[in-house]
Amino acid sequence: MPWIKAEDCVACGVCVEECPVGAISIDNQVAIIDENECIRCGKCHDVCPQEAVRHDSERIPMQVAKNTEWAKSLLRHFETDDDKKGLIDRLKRYFITERKIAEQSAEQMDAILHEICGL
Ligand code: SF4
Ligand code: SF4
Repeated sequence: MPWIKAEDCVACGVCVEECPVGAISIDNQVAIIDENECIRCGKCHDVCPQEAVRHDSERIPMQVAKNTEWAKSLLRHFETDDDKKGLIDRLKRYFITERKIAEQSAEQMDAILHEICGL
């Protein structure tokens, strides 16, 4: 899913006009994508004159940093080293499960294409 790099957006509205499903709005001088409405067509990325619409992959370092901070904030609720280790192990299992969900979902994409289009 595309995302808007807020500091590069000049609120010109070009992407709002181009989006075929009205998934983009301007709020506080920044474009916002409603991910529940977005159909992943990529048009907003193609038309933005500021290159403010960015690809998912660029979000990886930010998401990793966010997850790391989340883990640190949860650790504050645990007193002993054993309890802290228990939390970290649970979080590792959680992220591994998320990875498996993503990998298996990605594998299904080719199956869908074959089923729907015969490709
Ligand atoms: S086209 Fe780019 S700069 Fe203009 S509103 Fe959309 S994201 Fe912001
Ligand atoms: S990817 Fe397509 S549907 Fe999604 S916000 Fe951009 S233009 Fe709209």
